[in-house]
Amino acid sequence: MRVIFIGPPGAGKGTQAAKVVERWGVAHISTGDILRANVKKGTPLGLKAKEYMNAGQLVPDEVIIAMMKDRLREADCADGFILDGFPRTVPQAEALDALMKELQLDLDSALLFQVDDDTVVERLSGRRVCRKCGAIYHATFHPTAVEGVCDVCGGEIYQREDDRESVIRQRLAVYHEQTAPLIDYYRGQSRLLEVDAAGSSDSVLAVLESTLGA
Ligand code: ADP
Ligand code: ZN
Repeated sequence: MRVIFIGPPGAGKGTQAAKVVERWGVAHISTGDILRANVKKGTPLGLKAKEYMNAGQLVPDEVIIAMMKDRLREADCADGFILDGFPRTVPQAEALDALMKELQLDLDSALLFQVDDDTVVERLSGRRVCRKCGAIYHATFHPTAVEGVCDVCGGEIYQREDDRESVIRQRLAVYHEQTAPLIDYYRGQSRLLEVDAAGSSDSVLAVLESTLGA
């Protein structure tokens, strides 16, 4: 299985990816996670990416493309992958097509998570994350038992810098301008699948199961 997840921030791509990984054992490649790990470690890549990320802007294409060229050659990608957060622009999609061709691999599908902007703002402004294990909570819909403490590992709960409302609006604007054109791009390749991501459901697993026969 080689699948791309497309959707606005807060569409639940990461949550669904975790379920797909559990079910099919493919690699989950989240560009956001890779970038945040680099920011945390203070690597050259992290230093380049940090300002863009905190402002809700995209990191430049050439930086992302170089990073993904390395990542997709790693051994764990041989049995398939979910790309969560890449490609996010048409030039990134074109670079991915070129790389797939070079590696003689084929993409199965691009899965579009459909959810409206108000739902995104409600979800993300309440989102809280464990600093230690990455577990995800929501201040209203899924709070931790003890405020500020992770239920799973006891780690510290925090709010991502880019989950403040003004930055969320900026990320949504960037999504509509720069990422939404990928919908037509993959529709044109007959690879687009669409799922309703407004509720909490297992429709993603069902769609993948029925179309890929996995
Ligand atoms: P989101 O919740 O917005 O989907 P991610 O965790 O996927 O967040 O990404 C966080 C930030 O990392 C983005 O706002 C952007 O600055 C940067 N980023 C992640 N993936 C890409 C990409 N493919 N191209 C450019 N920037 C990216
Ligand atoms: Zn934790």
